[in-house]
Amino acid sequence: MNVMDIFETMEYGPAPEAATPALAWLKERQPFGLFINNQWVKPASGKYLDSISPASAKPLAQVAAANSTDVDAAVAAARTAFTSWGQTPGHVRARYLYAIARHIQKHSRLLAVLESLDNGKSIRETRDLDIPLVARHFYYHAGWAQLMASELPGYEPVGVVGQIIPWNFPLLMLAWKIAPALAMGNTVVLKPARYTSLTALKFAEIVQEVGLPPGVVNIVTGEASQVGEALVKHPDVNKIAFTGSTDVGRSIRRVTAGSGKKLSLELGGKSPFIVFDDADLDSVVEGVVDAIWFNQGQVCCAGSRLLVQEDIADRLITKLRTRMEKLRIGDPLDKAIDMGAIVSPGQLNEIQRLVAQGVEEGATMWQPSWACPTDGYFFPPTLFTNVAPAATIAQVEIFGPVLVSMTFRTPTEAVALANNTRYRLAASVWSENINLALDIAPKLKAGTVWVNCTNMFDASSGFGGYRESGYGREGGKEGLYEYVRPGWEKITASTIATPTTPTTPATLATSNGSSPSGDANTQRAGELVADEDMRENGHDALGFHSDLPPIDRTPKLFIKGKQVRPDSGYSRDVYDSHGRVIGQVGEGNRKDIRNAVEAAHAASGWAAGTTHNRAQILYYIAENLAVREKEFARRIVEQTGRPYTAAAEEVQTSIARLFSYAAWTDKYEGAVHRPPLRGVVLAMKEQMGVIGVACPDEYPLLGFISLVAPAIAMGNTVVVIPSQSDPLCATDCYQVLETSDLPAGVVNIVTGERDALSQVVAEHDDVDAMWYFGTADGSRQIELASAGNMKRTWVSYGHPRNWLDSVQGEGEEFLRESTQVKNIWVPYGE
Ligand code: NDP
Repeated sequence: MNVMDIFETMEYGPAPEAATPALAWLKERQPFGLFINNQWVKPASGKYLDSISPASAKPLAQVAAANSTDVDAAVAAARTAFTSWGQTPGHVRARYLYAIARHIQKHSRLLAVLESLDNGKSIRETRDLDIPLVARHFYYHAGWAQLMASELPGYEPVGVVGQIIPWNFPLLMLAWKIAPALAMGNTVVLKPARYTSLTALKFAEIVQEVGLPPGVVNIVTGEASQVGEALVKHPDVNKIAFTGSTDVGRSIRRVTAGSGKKLSLELGGKSPFIVFDDADLDSVVEGVVDAIWFNQGQVCCAGSRLLVQEDIADRLITKLRTRMEKLRIGDPLDKAIDMGAIVSPGQLNEIQRLVAQGVEEGATMWQPSWACPTDGYFFPPTLFTNVAPAATIAQVEIFGPVLVSMTFRTPTEAVALANNTRYRLAASVWSENINLALDIAPKLKAGTVWVNCTNMFDASSGFGGYRESGYGREGGKEGLYEYVRPGWEKITASTIATPTTPTTPATLATSNGSSPSGDANTQRAGELVADEDMRENGHDALGFHSDLPPIDRTPKLFIKGKQVRPDSGYSRDVYDSHGRVIGQVGEGNRKDIRNAVEAAHAASGWAAGTTHNRAQILYYIAENLAVREKEFARRIVEQTGRPYTAAAEEVQTSIARLFSYAAWTDKYEGAVHRPPLRGVVLAMKEQMGVIGVACPDEYPLLGFISLVAPAIAMGNTVVVIPSQSDPLCATDCYQVLETSDLPAGVVNIVTGERDALSQVVAEHDDVDAMWYFGTADGSRQIELASAGNMKRTWVSYGHPRNWLDSVQGEGEEFLRESTQVKNIWVPYGE
């Protein structure tokens, strides 16, 4: 063949990367043991699993098949190591992380080849993307280890972390998990995916090379049913970090419910790729290639739904088919191929099944004319047109190289179509009109939005979604909070204010006629002076002097800015600390909660208003509360039997707290990141949406204000279940809220049985987050129920909190729970 012949065809020649060093490395270490306490140990089962190369369907290596005995050993090693690693100065941890990053770079070629062999993805991707990002992640987190003491004061590591990762980015997911965990002083037990353990085992060698103390990183290979499940259930694991399918994420949520384990879940997606008619179509075509054929579409944030403005749809689809015809699929170690192999025969079957279903449901399928290699697990790039928005292939995550396209006419329609998914992970917007793109980006329900780009990642910019895409972020400062706890949580319950016991009828009748709600009230009896004195002197319960019987006040529920009767038509008695009935409140039920959620959604314009306006309203609420300061204090005395001075302090602190959040409203802001690209990433702190809030029994006013104020300050709307035992402070707030210009539906209050109502809120599909400050069992029920739509939860596990304290009762933790970070990537330059 001469140069002229080559010019005629422009055919690619083979450009293979040598596999020899990687194969030799594998051969020397056969079979692989488990990495526990910096040593290679045999699995207790004595069994091994084959690791298969997806491109050839041939075995590459044997890895240990661990079971729960090995998991126990690894967790024990991590626990022992935590006692010293958790105390190791940040600078020392930074040195280790820095060394790991350096060693990853030293072994980068071996790691890239191993990854391609094991996973089937192209060497172009592993060499140019996966491994550099792995190194960057360790460098970046070396920085956070160094800065932890100054930048996260008052926070401590969580302890032993169980980490479970998938097969699509084996080493990158390891880095996303291990780097922040170690930076924050935790120790880890990591389970790689069954199909792709090899780079994790090479990483174990790097751990040895850099001399990380034994037990800080433990790597346990094997199957989900033996290793993953044991890790999730293990009582000595303090946190689970998981990336994988939504179904498994949901089951992990259920298994860990009530255990107090922290949990972060990075799950599936069905991300929209939105193209407006003024977009640069040639860039769009390359963008689509990156969005859906990168890693064979086995990417949680793959742009798998192409949404095109109607007038350019035919033109774009024609261009796309031309480009697809030119894509090259084959040996992952060939540097000139675009697509490698699918990870396993099981995954290939699943892709084939869903594609067949798409055809059956009436969509039009198109594939290039060329054939795939037949000796491994390959699937061609596939494009569906004529797809109905409700079709299975438009809704279900295919996790393969399959693109479905739909059209829209207006920007509003584009947003509606884009958000028509149960996932909330990522989105791309393509338009040469930056005003349009930046208007659309915040409206997209996704944790990451890429403007005129796609699948960009950097350690500085947190990644993660919400709802069925999971919760928590990986990367950025926000990702660090997944691996720390506030230090005060270790304070024993006895040093924190004792909660009052609910005075329900069941607890009232006591045989000796003593204080109905038990010891707590007996102890308080001596303090109970204020309301006694008031009554004896002819004052009513609120301190007003009168010979007339008081006018009956029966608070209703507060929904959509109005006081409404409960659907049940029942009321519940409210008792003072002596067990005397002091009033009634509405007995809310499922229907009231549904109405409250609807009202909260209808008030979503609250988030779109200015932060200045929200701050003004919070100040106004404080002002109106201050006007009725004494009345509220007396109400607290009446319900709880606490001394007047303590009640007055609670009211004063509530007013101050409203001021705090009014102040924070326009100050808890996002950030602008400068990742290594020409452009910026706008990290915006977005409201969660509708938050369900179950208030604590103790501090009936302050508990209510401390939770509602940060939530609404950040633009959320709320459905609140006030203190069950002492709800009258919250119901007294109706008038305060009504006179403070708060738009109807921003705060909705449903009184009644806290746990029953909380359960309804936690199960509700249209509620985005649930906060619960009640019992340990109630917390467990909330976490269980939340798995339905994977809403984020914040529960107390029955631990008290000192609401008077400015660290425990207010601050960044509350603001963080009220928001989620959306990263909008905006490249610039011609
Ligand atoms: P899984 O969610 O099953 O696996 C992810 C990880 O979790 C693996 O390490 C797996 O172990 C482990 N695991 C599985 N079940 C449990 C369990 N009950 N308890 C603890 N750990 C468990 O994903 P699959 O590999 O089966 O892929 C299926 C689908 O999931 C894909 O088609 C895709 O839609 C989605 N997926 C999403 C990913 C993402 O990045 N969001 C990544 C991978 C898959 P083992 O490998 O041994 O089974």
